[in-house]
Amino acid sequence: MDILCTCCGEPWDVMHVLHEDRQSFERTGALISGCPCCKGLRPEDLTEKACQDLDALKELALMLGDDIDGFAALLEDFAFIGLI
Ligand SMILES: [Zn+2]
Repeated sequence: MDILCTCCGEPWDVMHVLHEDRQSFERTGALISGCPCCKGLRPEDLTEKACQDLDALKELALMLGDDIDGFAALLEDFAFIGLI
């Protein structure tokens, strides 16, 4: 299962984020606020809609706290992955 970086929208495998490359992510629980792609800087080419979606996902991730699997399942349920 994947979770998104809420800064740039890049999807990342949960196992990769938690175990294989954990030092490369700015993460608090389910919230990834920076990844190897963006280094915590929002890409300038994102649309306003994409930025709004990512900001909404950030709030959801914060609400879920450490429930990373729950956030990944939520993303799949909402079919956010692949839209950004
Ligand atoms: Zn990122």
